[in-house]
Amino acid sequence: MTTIADRISIAQSQIAQAAQNCSRNSEEVTLLAVSKTKPIADIIAAYQAGQRCFGENYVQEGEEKVIALKQDYNDIEWHFIGPLQSNKSRIIAEHFDWMHTLSRDKIAKRLNEQRPKDKSPLQVCIQVNISNEASKSGVSPEEVNQLAQTIDELPHLTLRGLMAIPTATEDVNLQRREFAQLENLYLELKQQYHSVDTLSMGMSSDLAIAIEHGSTMVRIGTGIFGSRA
Ligand SMILES: *Cc1c(COP(=O)(O)O)cnc(C)c1O
Repeated sequence: MTTIADRISIAQSQIAQAAQNCSRNSEEVTLLAVSKTKPIADIIAAYQAGQRCFGENYVQEGEEKVIALKQDYNDIEWHFIGPLQSNKSRIIAEHFDWMHTLSRDKIAKRLNEQRPKDKSPLQVCIQVNISNEASKSGVSPEEVNQLAQTIDELPHLTLRGLMAIPTATEDVNLQRREFAQLENLYLELKQQYHSVDTLSMGMSSDLAIAIEHGSTMVRIGTGIFGSRA
């Protein structure tokens, strides 16, 4: 039987291979284990295999897991990667280390006000809607600069970079085009802000292309924890 530990080491070697193929150092790419809907026992199993960064999508579920694990596993880094309504922002500000899906000024300001002053700033990525699909969340590429400037002026947030969920497609050319656009946006942002060092893109199916286009964080759920109910 393949264990969670086995699957983490497989994911790590896929990252290493993809990095090597494009002459990047695999240490530039962080594996984010997406544990949404999975039980705490699975998170502990991944932790025991050396995994420290976990991604959650649902506010309530994420809060419960952070609270349950914070005493005994206090070096876990918690990343919120789901959609956030402004009335739930306090939970993220109080419990998470990272927020990947920021796409509104209003939520940035709320997170800044609600971040406990005894914690380090909340690390944030701007979510970009690269395919411009109305159904997807995120700002358009043209709106990145405006939101980046807002975030940069907020003392309890640190702008780390961009996050995207590119179009799920079999069309490799479309995929490459979107990843290349994101890479360019990221490089432009990095030139403007010293704090920017993160491009959160790539999942199990498109990890290699994402890494080829500069991804520094790949988000893998099913590949580590198995399929979700
Ligand atoms: C669920 C999710 C993932 C992981 O997806 P898998 O298909 O389970 O690997 C990555 N990123 C985001 C934003 C997600 O919501």
